Amino acid sequence: MTSFQDFGLADPISRALKEENYVTPTPIQAQTIPIAITGRDVIGIAQTGTGKTASFALPILHRLLENRIKPQPKTCRVLVLSPTRELSGQILESFNAYGRHIKLTSALTIGGVPMGRQVRSLMQGVDVLVATPGRLLDMVQGNALKLGQVEFLVLDEADRMLDMGFINDIRKIVAKLPAKRQTLFFSATMPKDIADLAEQMLQNPARVAVTPVASTVERITQKILQVDHSAKPAILAQILKTEQVNRALVFTRTKHGADKVVKGLVKAGIPAEAIHGNKSQNHRERVLAAFRTGDIRTLVATDIAARGIDVDGISHVINFDLTNVPETYVHRIGRTARAGADGTAISLVAGGEELGYLRDIEKLIRVTLPKEDRRTPGHQQRPAAAAPSQHRPARSGSHGHNPRSNDAAPGSKGPRRRRRPGGGMPQSDRHEAGRHEQSRPSQNAKGEGIQGVAFLHRESRPAQNQPRRDQRPQRS
Ligand code: AMP
Repeated sequence: MTSFQDFGLADPISRALKEENYVTPTPIQAQTIPIAITGRDVIGIAQTGTGKTASFALPILHRLLENRIKPQPKTCRVLVLSPTRELSGQILESFNAYGRHIKLTSALTIGGVPMGRQVRSLMQGVDVLVATPGRLLDMVQGNALKLGQVEFLVLDEADRMLDMGFINDIRKIVAKLPAKRQTLFFSATMPKDIADLAEQMLQNPARVAVTPVASTVERITQKILQVDHSAKPAILAQILKTEQVNRALVFTRTKHGADKVVKGLVKAGIPAEAIHGNKSQNHRERVLAAFRTGDIRTLVATDIAARGIDVDGISHVINFDLTNVPETYVHRIGRTARAGADGTAISLVAGGEELGYLRDIEKLIRVTLPKEDRRTPGHQQRPAAAAPSQHRPARSGSHGHNPRSNDAAPGSKGPRRRRRPGGGMPQSDRHEAGRHEQSRPSQNAKGEGIQGVAFLHRESRPAQNQPRRDQRPQRS
């Protein structure tokens, strides 16, 4: 399919696409739309940034139009489950944009905001409801919503949902849905537990896949700066001042770290803002809006807070702290080079544990990343990043390349596999975002981060019985 016309989408939808300047379908759209429009279940392996939202929203809108019925009170015809508030908001915006010439009713049911308005928004029933799992269950349990009329279910970013401990909530929700429905299931990776979940939820699904990790990574110029830990703030400021930065997303491992980086940048005369789980929803929305418009060019974020941020035109991703989860590195750098653009990813790597993280990342992406030594003389006795793969030539010059398909499950190791501790908290008490972000700094007062990193390793697996408040998985 080379044009949206080929899909035979209803006229009001085609008009909206023209207004959105969508001309050529992305690969996931080209594969998914013709199948989903027939009513068949689909499993799609695709990341955010590949155009997957339209790949499920467009056929669903088309099918809603084919059978225009008024939703009954407190019901929805389409239920989209997404892991985060931000992503949910963006999905709803997309539905509303593509459905702007249809009299579409829609609502958002997400945590972290008072329930009253959301309850009222469902009173009359809606065509499309986008929700995070925890708050959705609250609404169902509070009799604000009935799920018996759902005709279309979308599960977006299933692997993230699993990571964030939503699996039981999802099972509970699915158990309340009619068996006769169309289900569209998307995940960036397809490890065994996700495949099992899909198996239970879908009937005779068609499988579609794009390999965004490889294709996205290919367009990104990646660079490792070997630095002294204490010099990271100054080097970051230097990068932001000297590189041609359109928008930069800076990743830190901890919330505290994000705030500290922002303070340092502001002191250096570089306007920056942080978003993380400790910030209010209002703050996050304000900052994201300013980042989108370009009023703020540097955003400092933790991994959790950055999930689902859908901002085009990020020219630079900077890893102030390297992540210990190699897939997270790929997700992070995939924030740049969106919608066909090029991008630059720069990682500041100090010695110690970060060298190990770097080796894991290079192993995953199967590329030896180019390294530049920015350590001050006298500090250089620390070993350079001697990845075992270093002698192997990079497959695509300085650009990363991951020939591996996305279906491996390396994420099943380490702290990425967080399960929700089985605490008996009421659902609604758990709605604050970012609870399982580390609240402790990874640096000590001298800025030496090694102890902090080791601590982080340990701490990111909370004790089963007594989850610390800030370690509970993010509730939507
Ligand atoms: P998504 O992966 O759904 O988050 O989409 C990533 C970005 O690409 C969003 O800003 C979309 O508006 C945009 N987009 C999606 N499909 C197309 C398309 N076919 N042509 C141009 N832009 C698109």
